[in-house]
Amino acid sequence: MTLSAPVDDKTVAATSASVEVVYRGIFQKTLASRICRGIVLASRLEGKVGTAFARYGDSPERNGVPAKNFAVVASDQDELEKSLARYEPSIVDVSVCVDDVMCKGIESWAWYGIQPINKLVREGGWLIVTSARSPDELLEHIHRKPHDWNLAVIPSPVREGVFAPEGSASFAGLWVYNDDNTDFQVLGAVARVNPGVVSIEAVEKAILQQTGDENKAKAARWSYDNLQMRPEMREGIVVEAMKVGTRNPVYKKWSTRTRRPIINFDTCIKCTLCWLHCPDECFEVTPEGTYEVVYEACIGCSICEEVCPVQDCITMVNELEFDNNDSLYEMYKKDPDGYKRLLNKFDIPFREDGAAPSSEKEAVK
Ligand code: SF4
Ligand code: SF4
Repeated sequence: MTLSAPVDDKTVAATSASVEVVYRGIFQKTLASRICRGIVLASRLEGKVGTAFARYGDSPERNGVPAKNFAVVASDQDELEKSLARYEPSIVDVSVCVDDVMCKGIESWAWYGIQPINKLVREGGWLIVTSARSPDELLEHIHRKPHDWNLAVIPSPVREGVFAPEGSASFAGLWVYNDDNTDFQVLGAVARVNPGVVSIEAVEKAILQQTGDENKAKAARWSYDNLQMRPEMREGIVVEAMKVGTRNPVYKKWSTRTRRPIINFDTCIKCTLCWLHCPDECFEVTPEGTYEVVYEACIGCSICEEVCPVQDCITMVNELEFDNNDSLYEMYKKDPDGYKRLLNKFDIPFREDGAAPSSEKEAVK
């Protein structure tokens, strides 16, 4: 069995994993304990051992004050006991937050000061949030970490809650345990982000054993299949060396641009020089064999304009004339007259007949 390893404790490395569930004290107590208990029961079906427990410092709980439950899963009893020889896990493989408002930070009544919701998430670990909001929206509120971590969102309907009568502050609802399958959906999400803790098959089997209700097992599978995953959040910006032929999926570069290249597709002679020389792999070949610019990746360096052998085939124009990075090739195909008006606007000559240059002399600057 391979479990994801806490990085700060070599004695339990590769043989145990910890999950925490952060919840609203009292209101979501039953929900949190059901999630942790479910993880342990499902992992046992795979031959692991585990235990679920509440954080001692939260007791007695208070209404709405953030509290935590934990599930620790290990390969054998010895490893489990080593993992538990601490007051509470100081680092977790998976953190689950069952009220997205807590992404702004949490303060237990036992300590002073806001703690980040992802404080215990280990390097490469996951924070799972139940929310009607997108991962990017939630990231506006979540604290940065000094290492890579991952965010996943269980998509949820907006639901009326005690503290948000106009629309829910929480997927699970507050105040009482809503038998709305939130617990089973969280189990499916944990299986998705870290199958070393528990597999989706074991989750489904455990749910069926406990409830005999196929719909609840389906809820876990639905969450497993539909989890919104936003991997590898980092402190600051890291610009990785890219493999030839690929673009950086994170660093888009377009905001560095003062001017953008406009292609006159009717005069392009398909020489490939722009594609070969662009330092940022911005060109894509079109179905006709001409070349279009992917504007999200273009930094506006003008090299393509310099190397293009055809007069006025590539022209650099002021970026403030545009308010998006949409494909201009698509515009050219859908609205040829509109494209001509665009070229006109920048005094770029075009051919009414759409034909390529008739002679080499005409084609070469
Ligand atoms: S302006 Fe520079 S970055 Fe943009 S497409 Fe041309 S060569 Fe590539
Ligand atoms: S360099 Fe100019 S002519 Fe050559 S493929 Fe690119 S746009 Fe077309």
